[in-house]
Amino acid sequence: MIVEELPERVREHVRNARRNGMRVGCVPTMGALHQGHCSLMERARRECDFVVSTIFVNPTQFLPGEDFTRYPRTLEADLRCCADSGADLVFTPQTEHMYAENAQTTVQPGKLAEVLEGVIRPGHFAGVTTIVAKLFAVTEPDVAYFGQKDFQQQLIIRQMVRDLKLPVEIVTCPIVREVDGLAMSSRNRYLSAAERDAAVELSRALAEASRLATESSLSSEEISEQMRNILQSSGQLEVQYAVLADPETLEYPLGRTSGGEAVGLIAVRLGTTRLIDNALIRFS
Ligand code: AMP
Repeated sequence: MIVEELPERVREHVRNARRNGMRVGCVPTMGALHQGHCSLMERARRECDFVVSTIFVNPTQFLPGEDFTRYPRTLEADLRCCADSGADLVFTPQTEHMYAENAQTTVQPGKLAEVLEGVIRPGHFAGVTTIVAKLFAVTEPDVAYFGQKDFQQQLIIRQMVRDLKLPVEIVTCPIVREVDGLAMSSRNRYLSAAERDAAVELSRALAEASRLATESSLSSEEISEQMRNILQSSGQLEVQYAVLADPETLEYPLGRTSGGEAVGLIAVRLGTTRLIDNALIRFS
């Protein structure tokens, strides 16, 4: 496995691979890798001939006061994880490699970035689209893998790829969970034991929403209310949002839902940690 921090070297490796007829897959990450990230790399390994993982804690997607400085940086373990998952090349740029001092250009997402996470973290998604566009420019992938865990993010990246006519196929991979249902996240390691116990309520609320959508005649708004009740019952979670939204436009509240699809989206604060989770929901 090649580990490379210089964009031009990465591009050379990728172009070599492509000259040899290889299909190139890219898995962008911020490191602190866990099974969720591994699942993306393993999928890329199955579907591509040359797998590039990127590890970069992107400063522009953190708001002032967020956890940029304390975000876990575990490069050695991450590289082992990449090797075990079958990556061929890991791109580990320094900030100056991705953001020149005199850089002026950013990629601004549209409406999809103005709701939910976009309201609570204004500017976050512009940081994401800008860095992902740059990572695509460096790694020139045929296909890139993202997690459903960041549901709004993968929609925004799909929209960016369409709008900018980027020649990259986007694949969204299922959420990998702990045995009790908690979605794996690099931020889970911030949780105290008591917070970790309470964190299970997110997946529980989503499972209940899914059940109610198939087994009850409750409206999407009533189901959202039930999700909020479950989240609040632990007394530890501060609910930022818990909604059922349109899985393509993220619009909510939903109108008619019978026979339709929705995505349940949750964000909470738990002590000093922010957690998000989601699930696709089908109404019977
Ligand atoms: P991050 O390092 O948090 O930026 O995540 C890198 C990629 O891994 C993103 O596409 C995430 O959606 C994805 N990811 C994070 N957690 C999970 C998970 N539990 N299951 C599947 N994919 C995940």
